[in-house]
Amino acid sequence: MSNLLPLQAVLNARASVPGGDMAAGRRGCPLSDLRDRLRRAGLRPTRQRLSLGWLLFGRGDRHLTAEMLYDEAMRAKVPVSLATVYNTLHQFTEAGLLRQLALDGSKAYFDTNPSEHHHFFLEDEGQVLDMPDCGITVDSLPDAPEGMEIAGVEVIVRLRRRGPVARKA
Ligand SMILES: [Zn+2]
Repeated sequence: MSNLLPLQAVLNARASVPGGDMAAGRRGCPLSDLRDRLRRAGLRPTRQRLSLGWLLFGRGDRHLTAEMLYDEAMRAKVPVSLATVYNTLHQFTEAGLLRQLALDGSKAYFDTNPSEHHHFFLEDEGQVLDMPDCGITVDSLPDAPEGMEIAGVEVIVRLRRRGPVARKA
């Protein structure tokens, strides 16, 4: 199901990673990289932050809600509450490690790639996909209000699956 190493094994064995696959092509130990990354972002690398950070950042760019991360933590036997997951996600976001996406009023999605990019959102499935780099150009923007400048533009293109029978309006 997942190519994550067993979390406890990783947390307990600080140096080389058993199995090796995951670390192939990376410099050093992913866990000490993560520890450094948290420190550089001004966060103390507590066990909980390391555990959740490992789940978040160990598998490339991802988009997930607190509930999704909580489910993963439960499966990985990380003893955290949903409230801790929420708090940690918000701390990571404030520290610039994650970006919160405004996709759906009812749920916050967090992106492990904090740089500016655009998204597809599959509304029915609640799934978020990165748009290819060349996917969109925004070449006509209104002037920012007096005293303001545009800091960034993020586009969300909402998708739905085509039904077997095309409905006409
Ligand atoms: Zn993204």
